[in-house]
Amino acid sequence: MNIICPNPNCGYQGPGKEVGGSNCLLLVILFALGILPGILYLLWCPKKGVICPKCGARIN
Ligand SMILES: [Zn+2]
Repeated sequence: MNIICPNPNCGYQGPGKEVGGSNCLLLVILFALGILPGILYLLWCPKKGVICPKCGARIN
């Protein structure tokens, strides 16, 4: 799907980058190391969405 980046400093238009799922690998690593922010990451992790491939801003 094509996106228009909401970041005024970026202004990217074109195919978005889908995220979600695979990022959970980082969560597993954080927990394995006993790092507390892993809990915060857990809240964000399950959300699938589309980000701007240029600046990384979340579209939805
Ligand atoms: Zn962008």
